[in-house]
Parts: sequence; C-alpha cells; structure tokens
Amino acid sequence: MPSPEFTATAIQNLIEEVHDRLRGRREGKVADYIPELAKADPEDFGIVVATADGHIYAVGDSDKEFTIQSISKPFAYGLALKLLGREHMHTKVGVEPSGEAFNAISLDPVSGIPRNPMINAGAIATAAQIWQHNPEAAEATLLGFLSDLAGRPLHVDENVYSSERDTGHRNRAISHLLRNFDVIESDPEGGLDLYFRQCAIAVSCRDLAIMAASLACQGRNPISGAEPLNADITIQMLALMGSCGMYDYAGQWLHDVGMPAKSGVGGGVLAVVPGRLGVAVYSPRLDPFGNSVRGIEVCEELSKRHGLHLYNQNPRAINTIRRSYTGSHRRSRRWRDATEVGILEKLGSRIRVVHAQGVLDFAATEQLLAELTAIAGQASVVVVDFNQVLELPPTSCSILLGQVALLRAKPITVLLSRADHLPSLAGLDHGLPTLPTIDAALEEAETILLQKERPELPSLQAPQPTILDGLDPDYRAILNPLLELTGFRAGEPAVQRNQSGDTLYIVVDGIFTTRIRLNLSNGTKKATRLSTFSSGMCFGEIGFLTGQPRTADVIADTDGHCLLLRREALDNLGRSRPEVVIALLRALSSELGSKLASASYQLTLLEHY
Ligand code: GLN
Repeated sequence: MPSPEFTATAIQNLIEEVHDRLRGRREGKVADYIPELAKADPEDFGIVVATADGHIYAVGDSDKEFTIQSISKPFAYGLALKLLGREHMHTKVGVEPSGEAFNAISLDPVSGIPRNPMINAGAIATAAQIWQHNPEAAEATLLGFLSDLAGRPLHVDENVYSSERDTGHRNRAISHLLRNFDVIESDPEGGLDLYFRQCAIAVSCRDLAIMAASLACQGRNPISGAEPLNADITIQMLALMGSCGMYDYAGQWLHDVGMPAKSGVGGGVLAVVPGRLGVAVYSPRLDPFGNSVRGIEVCEELSKRHGLHLYNQNPRAINTIRRSYTGSHRRSRRWRDATEVGILEKLGSRIRVVHAQGVLDFAATEQLLAELTAIAGQASVVVVDFNQVLELPPTSCSILLGQVALLRAKPITVLLSRADHLPSLAGLDHGLPTLPTIDAALEEAETILLQKERPELPSLQAPQPTILDGLDPDYRAILNPLLELTGFRAGEPAVQRNQSGDTLYIVVDGIFTTRIRLNLSNGTKKATRLSTFSSGMCFGEIGFLTGQPRTADVIADTDGHCLLLRREALDNLGRSRPEVVIALLRALSSELGSKLASASYQLTLLEHY
C-alpha cells in the first residue's frame, strides 16, 4: 500500500541540496540606495521551482515577502502590450539590449526613446503609458494583473514605496528627460509614481516562481488556470528578458545560464524554462550589477547540472507516431460475412491507421506527415487518430490539412478519429469525416475499402446465407416452422442486459450492435460496442447455449429482421428428432469457434500494434 503521507521527492531533495550548498555564500551587498531596502536580512535565502504541471518545490525563505522591484518590469511591459498593442509600444520603447546598468540614463541617440523596457528609462516610459491610458485605474489594473499571474492578491509595501519616492532623484530625472523627448507626453510625475508603486509590490519567492511558471506556460497560470497573458505577448516578454533581463550582465547570463530571467534590487530573481518551469530565488545580497549573488548561482547551477539552458535542446526523443498499422492487423468490431472477410483479408493492408500523440508542434507535425507520406504508396483509406494528441496549434493544423489534400488527390480517402478535443480541427470546415471512436473509424474505413475494391458487390447489406443454409434441406424444412420472423425498428433493443437468454437470433437483414457498459478505472462508466452483426450472422447464441442471462444489450442500428429460435422449441424437437438438433448445434459451435478464433487473433495483434 502506498503511504498517503509520502511526499518526499528527489526534486525537492535536489533544491534543498543546492540551497544548503550556497547558503554559505556571503558575497555581495544588500541594496541601500533606497533606504528602506537596507533593512532586508542579508541571510534570507529561498528557492522555489514551479512547474508547468503546477507542482511546487520550495526551500528556505520561500514565503517571506520582499519588494518585486525590477522584476515588475517585464510584467508591466506585458500589460502595456496588452492594453496598447505592440505597434504603439514600439514607438515609445525599443527592444535592443543596452549593455548598460539598470539605472543608466540611456536613450537612443536618434529617436530619443529608451533602448528597452528592462532598464529604468524603458520601464518608466512603460509605466507612463499604462498611467496615461487610464490614470485612475492604472495601479489597480497593474496590481490585478500581477496578482493573477501570482495566483493571490498582492499589495504595495507603502514603506518601500515612500522611501523610493522620496529618494529616487535619478529616476525622477530620467522621467523628466523622457518628457523632454516627448516619449512621455504629459506630466511625468504620474507615470513615475506608478513606477515607484509597481517596484514596491510585495511578493514572495513562491509568488515569483508561479509568475515565472505562468510565463513558461505562455501566459497561463498553471495553478489557478487564469490566463492574464497570451502566447504572443509572453514570447515578446521572454525575448526581452533573454536579451536585457540581467542588464549589463545579460550577454554573459544568456551564454552561461540561458534562461530568460529578471532580477530586482529587492533580492529576487526569476528565470523561465519555456514550456517547462519557473524558478525564483530570494537572497538580498547583490553583485555590482544589482543582481542577487546567490540568485545567479542557483540558476547557473540548475542550468548547468540539469541541462536547462535554452539552447541545450535534446534532439526530439518523443515519437509523434504512437502506433501505425494496417487494416489487416486490426479489424473493427463489425462482423462481416464470408465474402467481405475474404476481401478484407486480402486487401486489409490498404487501410492504414496512424495514431498520433503529444503536442503537434512544427517538428512533431513533420513526423506525422513523414509517416503519412511513407504509407501513402500502399494505402487506399487512411485513418488518423488524435486521441492522444494534446494540442494541435492552428499553424500545424493548416500544414496537416495541406498534407491531407495531397493524399486525397492521390486519391486516398482520409478519415479522422477522436479529434473533438482539438479546437483547431473541430472549428474548421475541413469536410473530413471525423469518427468518435477508433472502432467506428475502422468500420468506416472497411466499408469504404469494400466499396472501392469491389464496386460490383450489389450492396453490403444484401441478404447473406445463414447457418441454416449449411444444413441438410430436410432438416431445414423441419426447423422452418419453429423460426419466428421478427422485425425491429432502428434503435429498438433486440436483446436486453439481464434478460433470460433463451432465444437465438439469426439476422436476415439490417444491422445489429452489441453494446456493453465498461467500468473505467476513473470510476465512470462508458458505453462501447462489442460487435456489430449483419445479414447471415447470429447473435444471442451464448445465452441460448448456456442458459445464462444476457450480459449486453443488442440494438438494431437500422430497421431489420431476425429469425428467432426459442430454446423450448429446440428442446421439444430434441425429443423427436435429436439428429436435427445436433446438426444445428454443430453449425452453431462452428460459427462460435470461428468468432472466437478471430477475436483471440485480434486480441493478440493488439499487443503488437
Ligand atoms: N525601483 C528600483 C529602481 O528604479 C528598481 C531597480 C532594480 O530592481 N534593478 O532603482
């Protein structure tokens, strides 16, 4: 029995070990140019890792609050992009690394705009834009936005705010310079005040890790599910963090650590492994660049020892093709008559089934298309199953549909299966049949193949010989009066679960399907089909032979007729003409035998495909 209180994980041990090892590092100095910041305890040290799956690993001072400072900059820029758009923001702030200190008074010599939103000049220009957009609501909007990313309501540390407001002469000078160049078009004090308040927002290391994880998830908070940002804006934020996030240390950082990151003079650092996780460190001693010494070391250590560098990408190990097989390896649960079985046995390999899996990004889509191309030569009908596909971005969807168009021109019939969960496909009018189960898709593929390969077959539902046709005509004549021809309407049950199983059904025409309810491992029930019968086949023979109640429902899929034989009638016949009963039972057992053989063959194949 697994112990419910088992929480130990090797990842937790790993960050504890890093924390332990770096705790002794005492280089650097707590920032004191904002007087209130000097009060921070230099020994504070917290590390939190938050993953894209919403797991959190925390060690040390992970819940102690400190001020966000410059870590607010990429987020404020993200908000400005959201409120005012990219075009507009690019006229106010550039996206080039400055290679200068965070508080450099650095503006583009030609345009006069700040080089990027990560240095103070760019961040003050950004805050001024947010403020100007709606002066009354600006602070609440920014706080709400950061709170959504952190997953809890954040507040401003009033002491740190007033401390910087009263001493931030350099930042005040920058804002007036921006006013001079018309980057700020109105009173610069409003935007400057918003900037000071944004820098004084109190956060914990845990908050920062969740904010970083939200950036790793293209703007979606992986814990709360809130989506304050979209992928497009998140990409721009990460790009700027990658090139400018660590100021004049940015080049070295990208080289050595390779994670988009942002530091603040409050002692926080956050770093992002896109698509995977966010890391945050809190340790107030800063290096001469204004970056947390231990913060940098933790990120460097995690990146180097655990391969988190952005440019350290493993060649794709994930196989997009979960399974790929032919229609002779796997059959639908539709029982076919002997002619059809013969055709499917011979030509089943012209049906190709490809199960894709994972996130179909560009590279994964390419793998899927390569498989579709490789099988096209032998295929007549192709089923693409999406059940295990987690995501199909619209760009991949259009490439995929382009490939489908090439296949259809060959001409190959393409069927999709289990794709309803993919909005990019479900929302398109692509005209491709999309089947709800792989079994339904296989059945459809078989039917299409049978029609394609044997167009002269009059109709797949024409009356076929039954087990009775194999009997001696005399015996048949004796049995005939015992058979009751019964009609069923589409949707009507022929057999119901738990009823007594005293009747044998021989299908004359129409289609009948056996349905059972499966108890799934997650506690839910699911209706699924066991098999489908058409003209010439029988069903109900197990209950008929064993006397056990029915274990499944059999429903008429179409209007149809069956010949019913009741066990009582057969028992009576057994007393006068046992040889007739024996002949019928023989025919039945041979039919059962071939069903069993085929079912166990399919089961065995399933293990291999
Ligand atoms: N509020 C601080 C300042 O403008 C932010 C600087 C930082 O964290 N690098 O000086």
